Amino acid sequence: MTSPSGDRTHKIAAIPADGIGPEVIGAGLEVLHALQQRSDGLRFEITQFDWGSDYYREHGKMMPEDGLAQLRKHDAIYFGAVGAPDIADHITLWGLRLPICQGFDQYANVRPTRILPGIPTPLRDRGVGDLDWVIVRENSEGEYSGHGGRAHRGLPEEVATEVAIFTRVGVTRIMRFAFRIAQSRPRKLLTVVTKSNAQRFGLVLWDEIAAEVSTEFPDVKWDKVLVDAMTVRMTLHPESLDTIVATNLHADILSDLAGALAGSLGVAPTANIDPERRFPSMFEPIHGSAFDITGKGIANPIASFWTACQMLDHLGEAEASARLMKAIETVCSAGISTPDVGGTATTREVTDAVIKAIFGSN
Ligand code: ATP
Ligand code: MG
Repeated sequence: MTSPSGDRTHKIAAIPADGIGPEVIGAGLEVLHALQQRSDGLRFEITQFDWGSDYYREHGKMMPEDGLAQLRKHDAIYFGAVGAPDIADHITLWGLRLPICQGFDQYANVRPTRILPGIPTPLRDRGVGDLDWVIVRENSEGEYSGHGGRAHRGLPEEVATEVAIFTRVGVTRIMRFAFRIAQSRPRKLLTVVTKSNAQRFGLVLWDEIAAEVSTEFPDVKWDKVLVDAMTVRMTLHPESLDTIVATNLHADILSDLAGALAGSLGVAPTANIDPERRFPSMFEPIHGSAFDITGKGIANPIASFWTACQMLDHLGEAEASARLMKAIETVCSAGISTPDVGGTATTREVTDAVIKAIFGSN
């Protein structure tokens, strides 16, 4: 991490894991290497971890017992994808990705959404306005807190409960984080997604805390939108939105909609952030392991490059991040893209083009 002494050495833990993970993270590491060559003083110390489904088949677990302790020595985690056709999702997900998110209290999930030049999207094709959003998802509690249970299993009177837990601390910290992001962007605009007309406890607390935190950010314009109305607004009036904050469940759904509106899973990045920087944050493409295309050399590496931009920003390397983003846009504009976004290029060709653009830029 960049220190006051100006040291720009960053320790990155790379976990390519399953399916196309190694292909897109491998491409991303080549791009980081190019940025290092291009920028005086910038240095990445990369450690690769072979954790994931293959590791599970050999050791009976997705990562070693001291996995988090090993990761903790790094400034950031660059993550591929987990999941394999022959291993249950609860093993792969709960064995690797979620323990990292929870163990490092990465309570803010950040998903930038933009339509990249040259990428076909349902919005542009309909002539609807452009979009440039940052979706902030509460990543540690709410509807996915794992509380609840089943009574009278299998009987006619069976009841299952799924308890959403919202704490004052949890809601306040994500709200403050979202207001801060909104404040850092040119439009200074935040939309708080809610459903307090129907969810009358947790989401009323959510609304109250949004109003409280807003007083700390007088320069941020903010509004509240019910989650159902939000789907309409995202689809029909995308230009009316900028920064968006929503609960764990609501943001999970809305960010898939956002991904679809922006074009393809293969281009969408995400970051799991510990804003207090007590622990390393984790950067990953949104897509999964995509076994249908694994090993074919056609995985789209753009999501993996874009999340590397998020990682560089987090590490204080704004200039390298901007250089990489510009290279991504140059390559997309030139129509050099993989089949999932209508192109004919391979992962190798897109990666080479991005590296060339990095060296070609000022
Ligand atoms: P998960 O179960 O983790 O969601 P998955 O194997 O279902 O993983 P997804 O990431 O959800 O895969 O992707 C769904 C489909 O979208 C894939 O099967 C693949 O065809 C396509 N896809 C996803 N990511 C990419 C990518 N980077 N490049 C090209 N196609 C992709
Ligand atoms: Mg899937």
